[in-house]
Amino acid sequence: MYKSFLIKYGEIAIKGKNRYLFEEALTGQIRYALRSVDGEFEVRRLQGRIYVDALSEYDYDEVLEALSHVFGIVGICPVVLVEDEGFDKLAEDVIAYMDKVYPDKHITFKVNARRARKNYPMDSMELNAALGEKILDAFPEIKVDVHNPDVLLCVEIREKINIYSTEIKGPGGMPVGTNGKAMLLLSGGIDSPVAGYMIAKRGVAIDATYFHAPPYTSERAKQKVVDLAKIVSKYSGPINLHVVNFTDIQLYIYEKCPHEELTIIMRRYMMKIAEHFANENHCLGLVTGESIGQVASQTMQSLAATNAVCTLPVYRPLIGFDKNEIIDISEKIDAYETSIQPFEDCCTIFVAKHPVTKPNLKVIERSETKLSEKIDELMKTAIDTTEVIHITAED
Ligand code: ATP
Ligand code: MG
Repeated sequence: MYKSFLIKYGEIAIKGKNRYLFEEALTGQIRYALRSVDGEFEVRRLQGRIYVDALSEYDYDEVLEALSHVFGIVGICPVVLVEDEGFDKLAEDVIAYMDKVYPDKHITFKVNARRARKNYPMDSMELNAALGEKILDAFPEIKVDVHNPDVLLCVEIREKINIYSTEIKGPGGMPVGTNGKAMLLLSGGIDSPVAGYMIAKRGVAIDATYFHAPPYTSERAKQKVVDLAKIVSKYSGPINLHVVNFTDIQLYIYEKCPHEELTIIMRRYMMKIAEHFANENHCLGLVTGESIGQVASQTMQSLAATNAVCTLPVYRPLIGFDKNEIIDISEKIDAYETSIQPFEDCCTIFVAKHPVTKPNLKVIERSETKLSEKIDELMKTAIDTTEVIHITAED
C-alpha cells in the first residue's frame, strides 16, 4: 500500500554548506542502493526531507533491506502522502490509513500532528484532538493512550500531508563520500572487512589492497577476499581492489632477515605498497583491522614499528575491540561465514614459531639493511603487476 518512504537523517550535526553536501551524498547513495532492487524509484529532496517514491510495483522487504545499507539514514518511515483538500478529507484519509495498517483495532493510539506549513487553518493541538475524535468514532474498539500508545500516528502538514506510524531503524553514520576516501588493507580474515565497514560508516569511501602470495595462497583465497570486498561494498559503494603479488618480496625477506622479525618486516612492506596505491588514488589514510594485543604483530611496539614506515595516517577502527565484539559486527554485516572459510592467508605461511612481540624499531631497521636494492626492484615489479578489480555489490 505504500508508494513512498520518508527518510530521516541526523539533522542536528549538519549545518550550512555541509547540510547540502550531506543531503546530496545521501540521495546519491540511496539511488545507488536501489539500483539492485526490482522496480522503478525516484529519490527526491523536499524542504529538508528525503523521499523515496516507488513508480512501479516493488517488494517492500527488498526496499527496506537495500536502505538498511545506506549510512546516514537514521530512520525509514513508510508514508502515505495525500493532497490537502480540507479537514474532512484528511480525516477520511487518516481513518482509511488506520483501517488498512491496523486490521485489529484492539490497540491504543495517539495522534502526533505537526504543522510545518503555518497557513494551515488548524494548529497541531487542534488537529490532534479533532483527528483523535474521528478515529475513536470510526472504530469503537480502539482507545487513546497519550503516555504509552501502541501506535503513534504522525500527521505532518507539509506541501502534501504525510501520514505515517512506523519508523524502521536505519544504520546511522554519515553518507559515504562526505569524508573523503581511504585505502583498506583487506585480508581474508574477520577483522579487516569489519574495519572497512566501520570507516565507511563515518562517510569514508574505500579502495582496498590485498597481498596475494601464489602458490602459497590459492586462487580460492583470493576469491574469498573478492567476496568479502563485495560484502563491504554493499555499505561502502564500489571498491577498487588492488591484488598485489607479494610472493617474491616475502621469499626475499625470508631469505635475508631473522625469521622472528619476518612478520613485522613483511607488514612494513605491505604498508609501503598500500600507501603507494593510496596516494595514487587520492586516499587520505590507510585502514587496517588491527586491535591492540590481538597477536604478536599487534602489540603497541609492533604497531609502532609498522606505523613508522607510513606517511599517511593509519586508521585502526577496531583498536579497542575484543575479538568477540568484532565477530558480532562481522555477523551483523553478513561477512562472518565468508571470513571463516578455511583458506590460507599469506601471513600464516611464513610465521615464525616465536615471533618478536616487542620489536625495537632500530633493530628492525638494522635487519632491513640486509635487503639490497633488490627489494626496491621487487616492490616496483609488485606494483607494476598489480591487478585492479572493480568491485560492486551487484555482480
Ligand atoms: P584479519 O582478520 O583482518 O586478517 P588478523 O587478525 O588476521 O586480521 P593480521 O594478520 O595481523 O591480523 O593482520 C592485521 C591487519 O593487516 C589486517 O586486519 C589487515 O588490515 C592487514 N593484512 C594482513 N594480511 C593482509 C593481506 N594478506 N592483505 C592485505 N592486508 C592484510
Ligand atoms: Mg589475517
